[in-house]
Amino acid sequence: MADDVKRMADLLKSGATMLSDICPECGSPLFRIKGEVFCAKCNKPVVYARATGPTATISPGNSFESLEQTLVGKISETNEFLKTEKDLEKLQAYSNLVFGWLSTLEKLRKVKDSFREA
Ligand SMILES: [Zn+2]
Repeated sequence: MADDVKRMADLLKSGATMLSDICPECGSPLFRIKGEVFCAKCNKPVVYARATGPTATISPGNSFESLEQTLVGKISETNEFLKTEKDLEKLQAYSNLVFGWLSTLEKLRKVKDSFREA
């Protein structure tokens, strides 16, 4: 097995995720491990400029921001319903919704942090 293929396998085994980005030097798929972007072929961490790099067009940060705003908006809208709603079944349904949104927000923020670390 070629060294780079073996390294890719090792990276994946140690919990790395394969990114959709490619290495600006050799064109191999990049891996994210422990907040670092790593090229298995070059066998070194890759630091690429976000503004000009391959991620410029795929900007997960922006979609996360907008999803986060939507969720926060939904939660505050639901809060208004909760204030006036007396029907227990509806209240239950609303709180389930809010709970779901809150856990989504929590996960979202973790994912956003992992992007920021890079
Ligand atoms: Zn490379």
